[in-house]
Amino acid sequence: LPQVAFSGRSNVGKSSVINRLLNRKNFARVGAAPGKTTQINYFKIDNAFYLVDLPGYGYAKVSKAERDRWGKLMESYFADPELMTLGVMIVDSRHKPTADDCTMAQWYREAGCPFVVVANKLDKLKKSQVEPNLQVIRETLELGEGDVVIPFSAEKGTGRQELVSAILASVEGRKAPGA
Ligand code: GDP
Repeated sequence: LPQVAFSGRSNVGKSSVINRLLNRKNFARVGAAPGKTTQINYFKIDNAFYLVDLPGYGYAKVSKAERDRWGKLMESYFADPELMTLGVMIVDSRHKPTADDCTMAQWYREAGCPFVVVANKLDKLKKSQVEPNLQVIRETLELGEGDVVIPFSAEKGTGRQELVSAILASVEGRKAPGA
């Protein structure tokens, strides 16, 4: 089955995005101890694809041992790029993406895995901040014309349909939506 990998900084709302996507409350654990790299979780969705929940990164207070553990897990996952159909990179729409976010984008590129960026916590932005912030995200992650950034709120449900469409298009053989 194709794999759709979800990645993001600790506390960016990755679990909340997954729960919103699947319309479930407790699928992915929300508010798990920040920075505790446990494992890569696989959820089989509708016999159509695996949703791969990659451990969060970038939490300031983690030990070097914990960071190394995270690096090893990522290396093992990215070692098999033919399994990866789509990356869903979650960032915080309020902030400029971090160096770790840029590294993650680079990993997807090097693996030849297409990815979409989900700009979460949109509900915390003023309307006037949305476009400028999305632009900063595009520039910082060095996205191209064809790359997709989905404004999203796990809390309100904004952007859910767009994310569903992007995932289905990718899982069904990278057809353009509606093709
Ligand atoms: P994870 O560590 O990336 O899995 O993040 P969680 O899903 O556990 O969310 C971290 C915190 O952000 C929790 O307190 C969530 O309620 C909150 N959160 C997640 N998504 C949103 C959102 O779209 N809007 C707002 N306002 N809060 C959110």
